[in-house]
Amino acid sequence: DPSICSPLPVLGRDVTVPLVTGGEVTYAALDYAASAPALQRVWDDVAAYAPYYGSVHRGAGYLSQLSTDLFENARRTVAGFLGCRADDQVVFTRSTTDSLNLLARALPADCRVFVFETEHHASLLPWQDSQVTYLDAPRTPQQAVRTLERALADRDPHGPALVCVTGASNVTGELWPVRELAAAAHAHGARIVLDAAQLAPHHPVDIADLDVDWVAFSGHKLYAPFGAGVLAGRADWLRAAEPYLAGGGASRKVTRRTDGGVDVEWHESAARHEAGSPNVIGAYAVASACKALTEAGWADLVAREQRLIERVRTGLAGIPQVRVLSLFGDDAPRVGVISFVVEGWNSSHFAAALSAEYGIGVRDGLFCAHPLVRTLLGTDPQTQGECGAPEAAPGEKSLNAIRVSFGAGTPDEHVERFLTAVR
Ligand code: PMP
Repeated sequence: DPSICSPLPVLGRDVTVPLVTGGEVTYAALDYAASAPALQRVWDDVAAYAPYYGSVHRGAGYLSQLSTDLFENARRTVAGFLGCRADDQVVFTRSTTDSLNLLARALPADCRVFVFETEHHASLLPWQDSQVTYLDAPRTPQQAVRTLERALADRDPHGPALVCVTGASNVTGELWPVRELAAAAHAHGARIVLDAAQLAPHHPVDIADLDVDWVAFSGHKLYAPFGAGVLAGRADWLRAAEPYLAGGGASRKVTRRTDGGVDVEWHESAARHEAGSPNVIGAYAVASACKALTEAGWADLVAREQRLIERVRTGLAGIPQVRVLSLFGDDAPRVGVISFVVEGWNSSHFAAALSAEYGIGVRDGLFCAHPLVRTLLGTDPQTQGECGAPEAAPGEKSLNAIRVSFGAGTPDEHVERFLTAVR
């Protein structure tokens, strides 16, 4: 489709939505950071496989064997996509949130966790049962590394420690210095998990090259449908941990004891944390998206997205009432996720108007990163936000923000319509 100018068409290009002003318009999906539309190719792959799927790892029938092969091949495809090391495990989960909660349950005893307050709640909150150090928002990537180094140096160097960091912010789109943070973590005997929910859809992520211990991402942000995510990385802590869920599939042998109880031997492979009938179609869709992105070529995808980012940022910069939110400043490398506030406007009303009057879907709120957005807006930490944010009185600070986000398959027209609407 030449009007798309993208090597990767997505679903929903012809969806029309009603306008409050009358008539209808094709929907401009500019909320990729929440959930990206599925690639046409992923949908086609899933549709081709759907008549043949069966239960994996159990059935003796032909379709069960086929599904088991496809499920395990999907694991290998994801491992290749992430550049996994030979002994890394790829666990299929429901989402990034699920992946990070799984890892939180697999931490060794007395593990200390270090996390910046700027993280998405999925990275910020799962560690509450451990001893967590929340690090203040840095204002430069270098400051992030220094802050982490100082915090790690202050701890008992012999105990286990984990750093959790995002690759690309779901609020500002800014890239974090993952390689440098990983080096700092390892130099201080800590491990690091990368929240790649927003990075993986926009950039190649190579676990070995970045030298991170684990990577987590969600299929629905990576142009696959909902319901499947990934935790990939070092096997040792995962193997040593109690299963995330107890049940069939995770257990190798279950026996009744003479005292009446039950003994369980758990699998040591990824199956240990995948109890229950797995989401075969979801895993297959994630693998299909990984293949499609790789085959389309990252250089082209990144170059096209950077052009759209430039266009949106320049367009917004030309509107005096608009303030784009940034932690690291204008020169920071970033992905297609841009948050802003408009002077004199309640962000929720603004986003509602973009939808009702222009057919544009964006998001408003605090984007499940409340401490970060409040830091960026300069509002009181106790201020209520998110849904039902009270109106900011004229001249007062906004209490929430508007986020526009895009990627593969976004036509230029969506971005132009958005800028016209904001103007
Ligand atoms: N981390 C980041 C940076 C995110 O943007 C999101 C989703 N907004 C998540 C984690 C959680 O992803 P999911 O809702 O798919 O679990």
